[in-house]
Amino acid sequence: MSLPKEKGQSLAKSIEVALIKCKPCSECFLLSDISPCIICSDNNRNNELLCVVESSRDVFAIENTKEYNGYYFVLGNLLSPINGIGPNEIRINEMMKYLEKKTFMEIILAISPSTEGETTMQYLADNLGNFLPNSTQSLKHNVLHGSEEVEQKQIIQSIRITRLATGIPYGSDMEYTASNTLLNAFKRRFQV
Ligand SMILES: [Zn+2]
Repeated sequence: MSLPKEKGQSLAKSIEVALIKCKPCSECFLLSDISPCIICSDNNRNNELLCVVESSRDVFAIENTKEYNGYYFVLGNLLSPINGIGPNEIRINEMMKYLEKKTFMEIILAISPSTEGETTMQYLADNLGNFLPNSTQSLKHNVLHGSEEVEQKQIIQSIRITRLATGIPYGSDMEYTASNTLLNAFKRRFQV
């Protein structure tokens, strides 16, 4: 079941109006009227899971599935070399700072499977190891204490990077995806 296009557009518009009054959360960049947002302030969530999304609307769509109970990080944009949107134009540095404070065990890339989405997921999968604090420490440690290398590597390898199962129509916006499809995509997520 998917939303008729008109209904989807009016829903998007009302969310848009509500979001104009909000500011990005200082932690996860979700648009919110308080900062840190209600999700970042909730200590009862699963602190092993991080879900990386393009926009605040994706967070609301995922929250609607009631399947996910971890934290989020909102990139704000997707990589699009053809439009001049590179790693500096999305919140890679902010995400690095955020990850330094956390100890997630799984990072879920919940990004639309569009051309830009695929480029972004590939970039994150290739580079995420460098963003994790353990790996930067590992490089410094190697010089001083060669024996600690193995231990540090095990920590990095124990962090799973996953993406949602396909089934979401190619190029469609996640916010319009029927909740059930998104729920299934979440349950069937797989390692990158
Ligand atoms: Zn937040």
